[in-house]
Amino acid sequence: MQQGKIGVTTENIFPVIKKFLYSDHEIFLRELVSNAVDATQKIKTLSNFGEYKGELGTLDVRVSIDKEAGTLTISDHGIGMDAEDIDKYINQIAFSGAEEFLEKYKDTANSIIGHFGLGFYSAFMVAKKVEINSLSYKEGAKPVKWTCDGSPEYTMEEGTRTERGTDIVLYIDQEDDKQFLERATIEGLLKKYCRFLPVPVIFGKEQEWKDGKMVDTDRDNVVNSTEPQWMKKPADLTKEDYLNFYHELYPGQDDPMFWIHLNVDYPFNLTGILYFPKIHNNFELTKNRIPLYSNQVYVTDSVEGVVPEFMMLLQGVIDSPDIPLNVSRSYLQADTAVKKISSYITKKVAARLEDIFSSDRADYETKWDDIKIFIEYGMLTDEKFCEAAMKFVLLKDTEGKYYTLDEYRALVEPEQTDKDGNVVYIYSTDKTAQYSYINAANALGYNVLLMDGQLDNHFVGLLEQKIEKTRLVRVDSEVASNLIPKTDSKSVDLSAVQRGMLTTVFRSQVPEVEKANFLVEFEAMSPTAMPIVVTQNEYMRRMKDMAAMQPGMSFYGELPDSYNLVVNTEHPLIVKVRDAATAAIGAQVEPLAKEIDEKNKQASDIRAAAKDGKLSTEEQQQVSDLEKAVGELREKQEQIEKDYAANQPEVKQLIDLALLGNGLLKGAVLNAFIARSVSLM
Ligand code: ADP
Repeated sequence: MQQGKIGVTTENIFPVIKKFLYSDHEIFLRELVSNAVDATQKIKTLSNFGEYKGELGTLDVRVSIDKEAGTLTISDHGIGMDAEDIDKYINQIAFSGAEEFLEKYKDTANSIIGHFGLGFYSAFMVAKKVEINSLSYKEGAKPVKWTCDGSPEYTMEEGTRTERGTDIVLYIDQEDDKQFLERATIEGLLKKYCRFLPVPVIFGKEQEWKDGKMVDTDRDNVVNSTEPQWMKKPADLTKEDYLNFYHELYPGQDDPMFWIHLNVDYPFNLTGILYFPKIHNNFELTKNRIPLYSNQVYVTDSVEGVVPEFMMLLQGVIDSPDIPLNVSRSYLQADTAVKKISSYITKKVAARLEDIFSSDRADYETKWDDIKIFIEYGMLTDEKFCEAAMKFVLLKDTEGKYYTLDEYRALVEPEQTDKDGNVVYIYSTDKTAQYSYINAANALGYNVLLMDGQLDNHFVGLLEQKIEKTRLVRVDSEVASNLIPKTDSKSVDLSAVQRGMLTTVFRSQVPEVEKANFLVEFEAMSPTAMPIVVTQNEYMRRMKDMAAMQPGMSFYGELPDSYNLVVNTEHPLIVKVRDAATAAIGAQVEPLAKEIDEKNKQASDIRAAAKDGKLSTEEQQQVSDLEKAVGELREKQEQIEKDYAANQPEVKQLIDLALLGNGLLKGAVLNAFIARSVSLM
């Protein structure tokens, strides 16, 4: 029997392991099962090369629990170890400057594992005592038993194992780690970490429901599938294979739209399958679904930093032994191999999308509505992807036709270039609500894009940045004839008095709409256009939309919506209102308006004449008297106009119709409108 001290320079490494690795201590199982799998692969290799001539026998790895003894055992039929091997691989951990290392990586202590061959020692995170029972494949090897109770002392003696391979027996710490003796816990961990290991991993028997309880059958419970699809060659897989694998990974989900099989071995090793799922609602919820594997060993679910941010919307699997395991995120992101991998994936995804686009445009179009969010997200967050995607991003118009950026430009350039040479893209965010605006724009020969996706707000801004000499305006931001200013617009046929009169007449009849302000404007549109159109300023609207999505811009968010009530002075109904008002109250209003003008003029004459802009006390008095008089006259004039307007149901009707077209007419106001409509008929 041999006794000795484990060759670690730290006085006692185990408390360190236990403490630093505490948060992640379930990974001991991954480490031990991986070792067992490695040992199994090695014996297969040796056998293939003729270096091992014995029977291979069954090559599975078994995990078992003995609750009474308080042990968890991992057994394999791998190459095994003799005393010399244990001395070399277990006792003298190849470990220079362990203390220094621990000091340096205190916060990322996980990186010890793997790097320094502490994989096996992670057993001490959950066990008070660990035993190795092993029989090496070497001819004439003696079985060996190694025991260590967590202090740096171990014992090694002749063992009892008669079959080639190794048992690792963990005496689970009953105080802190009892859960690792529970079937459900271990099964869960095996499913998480060992699901795709290349050697069958067996944990007890399959169970079935019988006489009101779960009982063991005589079938082994194999927890993994040993040949996951991503390790196979794309040429050997059918569409069904990909779909089946998807459903195995994500039970109960709709079929994915398409997938990309990643397969590189230079300058780094990477395999995997990425699926484009159907993204239904909140895409935040669907993030972080690509598990990362290293040679079929599960590493983590959060691939942040490894795949580009926008690909977090995808599903599937990535497997790369070149991604450093168990290191901190910041380290990972700075790692050059990881950077290369990330940009490789971006390129590959872009190339695949372009390929689908150019090989089957019609199919691509049918999928567009579902992949749009992904592509827009990618374009918004990844410069390189954006560049590539300019070729295959589509724009959809309100009639459901799809265009590439180039096609769309060619389509609208002739009709939709404004007087400054900008091509104006008109878009709608809601085909139903903005129906009448779309109609009006179409009537002028304009095309209207549909931008009703979750990210379209931002995407509109991106398009303006990326495509030179382009402006995007929402279809209701202006009356149709003004969406694309081509020449200076036709002047409005109103006298100053009429303009003032009609402003009050219309303004006073706008019903109360919550959180909305209205400004009255006049435009000489076509006589066949609508008599009144409600528009919403593009800039203010975008500000408010942004505010809704970002904290810290609540100033814009809290402002009421500001609408323009644009009155079409060429429309016969408006002409009628104008003429009727002029006839009814023109004679009363005109002298008041004249007086107001005169008084204003007097006041400004006094100001103009003042030396150095300074008014004497007397002049100040005069000006303020004049202003007061103007105020009173205005009030009087407005009162006349309001009294008049109050008895003009047609004016109310015209306004309400415009509001109705914009979805702004609700509740009591809508009720009044309906009642009035009936009485006017
Ligand atoms: P790593 O696996 O990173 O090399 P470990 O501490 O997990 O580090 O294991 C150290 C060495 O011990 C392994 O490289 C292997 O040679 C040997 N070993 C561990 N477990 C087994 C096993 N089940 N069968 C055979 N050899 C093993």
